[in-house]
Formats: sequence, structure tokens, C-alpha cells
Amino acid sequence: MSQIDDLPPLRDVIRTHGLDAKKSLGQNFLLDLNLTSRIARAAGDLANATVVEVGPGPGGLTRALLANGARKVIAIEKDSRCLPALAEISARYPGRLDVIEGDALKVDVAALGEGHPVRIVANLPYNVGTQLLLNWITTPVWPPFWASLTLMFQKEVGQRITATVDDDHYGRLGVLAGWRTRARILFDIGPQAFTPPPKVTSAVVHLEPNPEPLPCALADLERVTAAAFGQRRKMLRASLKGLKPDAEQRIADCGIAPTARAEEIDIPGFVRLAARFAES
Ligand code: SAM
Repeated sequence: MSQIDDLPPLRDVIRTHGLDAKKSLGQNFLLDLNLTSRIARAAGDLANATVVEVGPGPGGLTRALLANGARKVIAIEKDSRCLPALAEISARYPGRLDVIEGDALKVDVAALGEGHPVRIVANLPYNVGTQLLLNWITTPVWPPFWASLTLMFQKEVGQRITATVDDDHYGRLGVLAGWRTRARILFDIGPQAFTPPPKVTSAVVHLEPNPEPLPCALADLERVTAAAFGQRRKMLRASLKGLKPDAEQRIADCGIAPTARAEEIDIPGFVRLAARFAES
């Protein structure tokens, strides 16, 4: 694919606006139009959605979202150098792109929906990607304000998000994501697709809310998973002892062997532990 719109090619945009990639902002720009369009299409029905994009940079993915029919894109970008390039896209798609200059960690994304389902789509900055995902999957109200998350991560992070029990990558992130969402890796993207190329392969992860996660208080689940995976090589009777002195009995009450390790406990098991360890 050589063109998706009549705006200048991304390489020219980057040169014209002097957008040399800054490592401190996790800037690895995706210039391959086949890939940006593939991500946009994977995000689901964009025509009726409010698409929130974190870190549009020079706007490659933003342009793919708009060219693929997004009703409205609200893009949050921390680097003010990118704003003139984004203004050109806004002018090409009148009324369909709003840009918020700021730190996505501080923006109330839940308030941006305009009465439409929110689809969050982003090639995330590596330094804040996991924190943003955690914020979205641990939002207090469930089902959440968002209808889907289509996000690019380092592949290893994608594997941790989608990991299930007995998988090497299984940990707190896999439990929380697996409890509240249906998460899957859609495809990998090699380093050479980016400018500059990162050191590792990336993966696009798609998450949709699980409408009825097993009943459990989020704080209780976070407490047991933090303790269990904080010392993942230890048996649960040791790693959970700091939570309650009678940990061994409580673990057994859940039908779980106190000698088991965190990586052997599936999500229903963690939900039972969370409830039992929350009791006085
Ligand atoms: N979306 C573009 C693409 O696919 O080519 C750029 C992706 S680049 C990996 C990450 C972008 O996130 C950069 O434009 C960077 O300036 C921006 N960014 C970094 N930290 C941010 C933050 N806390 N809030 C909003 N944007 C941020």
C-alpha cells in the first residue's frame, strides 16, 4: 500500500516538522501503511465509536483510523512537537480528530466517550504502556467505559497479558487481564517496521471486557496476586503467610494445596483465595 490519503508521506511529515524520535518518550514510529491499517481494522467497528488514541506522534496510526472510517478520534499526545502535524490531519478530516496535549496517565479517558462506545487504540509508549493498561483493566466500574483495547506492546508484555496458568509468562498481569477481559495477541510486528527500530519484537493485543468476571473485590485479588507472584518460587503457604498467619488453613479451605506455587493457580483459584483471605 503506497497511500491511504492525500496527506504527505509520513517520512516527509517527520522531516518537515523535525520529529526526531526521543527515547525518553518511547518514540518508535510505525510508518508501514499496511500495518497501521491492519491495526485500525482489528479495532472493531470504528464508525459508531469514539476512538481514543494514546501517543499519535506524527499520526500514522491516526490517519489509518480515520481512513478506515472512525467517526471520531481523540488523540492524547505529550510531545508538543507533534501538534502541527496532527493539526494538518485534523484539517483533512474536519470535525473528526481532536488532539489533547498532555500526559495520558493524567487524562480522564472515561469522560471522552461523547455517548458512543470508546475504543482505545494505541502504539503505546513502552515506558507507560503497562501502567495505562492496568488503569483501564482495574477501573472500578465494570463493565468498563471502554468497549475494546487494541494496543501494541513489546511482545513479552503481550505474552504476560494473555498468559494463562502454567505458562512461563503467567503472573499478576495475566490474572488481572484474564479475570476481567478476553485478551489475545493478534499478530507480531518485527523491529524493522519502526523508525527507529526498537530492540525487540512487538505484538498487537486486543482486549474486550468480560461482561461477568467471577465475583471478587479487585483490591482483594490484587493483594493475593501481589503476595503470591511477589515470591513466585515459594509455595503459597510461605508467600501468603504475610497476609494472614493462618494462611495454610485458608489455602486448604479453597481446595488448593498449600504447597502449590502461584503459577499453578488458575483464575478461579485466585478468586477463591482473594475471598478467603479477605475474611477476618
Ligand atoms: N502512534 C505513533 C506511531 O504508531 O507511529 C507513535 C507511537 S510511539 C511508540 C509513542 C508515542 O506516545 C509518542 O508519540 C510519544 O510522544 C507519546 N507519549 C509518550 N508518553 C506519553 C504520555 N505519557 N502520554 C501521551 N503520549 C505519550
